[in-house]
Amino acid sequence: MIVVGGGAMGTAAARQLAGRGRSTMLLERFTIGHANGSSGGPTRIFRYAYHRADYVRLAMAAREAWHELEDASGERLLQVTGVLDPGPEGLRRADLLDAAGVANERMRGAEARQRWPGLHLAAGADVVFQPDAGVLHAASAVIAQAALADAAGATLRQETTVTEIRPGVDDVEVRTSDGESFVADVAIVAAGAWAGPLLAAAGIHISLRPSLEQSTYFALDRPDPPLPAMIDWLEDATQPPYLVPNPWEPGAFKVGLHMAGPVTDPDTRTFDADPSRVDRVVEYVTSHVPDARATGRTDTCLYTITPDEDFVLDRVGPIVVASPCSGHGFKFAPLFGGALADLAGGVEPPFDRSAFRIDRPGLAVG
Ligand SMILES: Cc1cc2nc3c(=O)[nH]c(=O)nc-3n(C[C@H](O)[C@H](O)[C@H](O)COP(=O)(O)OP(=O)(O)OC[C@H]3O[C@@H](n4cnc5c(N)ncnc54)[C@H](O)[C@@H]3O)c2cc1C
Repeated sequence: MIVVGGGAMGTAAARQLAGRGRSTMLLERFTIGHANGSSGGPTRIFRYAYHRADYVRLAMAAREAWHELEDASGERLLQVTGVLDPGPEGLRRADLLDAAGVANERMRGAEARQRWPGLHLAAGADVVFQPDAGVLHAASAVIAQAALADAAGATLRQETTVTEIRPGVDDVEVRTSDGESFVADVAIVAAGAWAGPLLAAAGIHISLRPSLEQSTYFALDRPDPPLPAMIDWLEDATQPPYLVPNPWEPGAFKVGLHMAGPVTDPDTRTFDADPSRVDRVVEYVTSHVPDARATGRTDTCLYTITPDEDFVLDRVGPIVVASPCSGHGFKFAPLFGGALADLAGGVEPPFDRSAFRIDRPGLAVG
């Protein structure tokens, strides 16, 4: 089996394939743990609150998969910080949490401010708190998955760019920029923002839009208790600011605006921050975490967005397509690694993936 791409999804898939005794080769154009794609940087939110019940159930299953990865790697990758969802959208999501039996607390902004004095929310705002949600150690998780894949016998080829994927009837040929050619039963394409053109050249045409997102970093001295993560639907329901504390660096946190970046090309994109979005975030932090100071650091990162913002997890002949991004895929990585290995082995994953099928109308190229 060949895995194209060594981000969160590709390393998760390679680990599962190799662990199941399949001959596995992962091809990654950069080095594993790099920050040029979607999986770099220190942190990602792990939350249960979603707009649909199927995602709530997936997040519950993903939590178990993270525990299993932590046990296997011996590393703490998910820290429970709690996650806040201010605004009416938070209340809607809390109803789905109730239905799934996921712990949550409803409170007003004034109570939230008493519990986390560093955080200033409007006193009368509706706020939902998920006490068991938290923050993932992103780059460490990718490296841990790759190390486990390696230990299970996978070949990890870094600095190797796949230039072409040619599906046959019973197998698939994968060519690289080094002029090499590999043939396998199945290729899992987990190429993030680069996936669209690679898949199109292999005859799979789906709408995957890379966008250039960014996170700006702040520090707060001795927050006691530590800040929870937060997605502020009250501030902006379409491009909500999200705040992610770094439990591995107490007091440090980042803030970004969800899906606020322009369409980009992953090969020619800039790594420079957009100053207008930095200003919006600094203004937001000034009013909501007034004691925090900006560190001057802003990272850029790529989203790969489908038109309906649902993932793609499906198989077309010898190609398994793994595009779980749209800005919310990281939390599912170890769970989806198993699902991708299932699909590669011709087995249906143990969850309903109907929303992630490649032939759904919402994914058609417009
Ligand atoms: C700023 C930001 C914040 C986010 N916040 C959250 C969050 O809080 N919670 C959450 O759950 N999710 C979040 N996400 C989404 C999450 O990070 C992504 O869903 C996830 O990282 C996608 O992983 P991936 O493996 O599909 O993509 P990537 O990590 O981009 O991996 C694709 C890999 O393929 C390689 N590749 C591409 N083309 C080739 C080729 N031709 N040959 C060889 N290798 C190739 C690339 O180099 C790359 O390493 C966020 C994303 C961003 C950008």
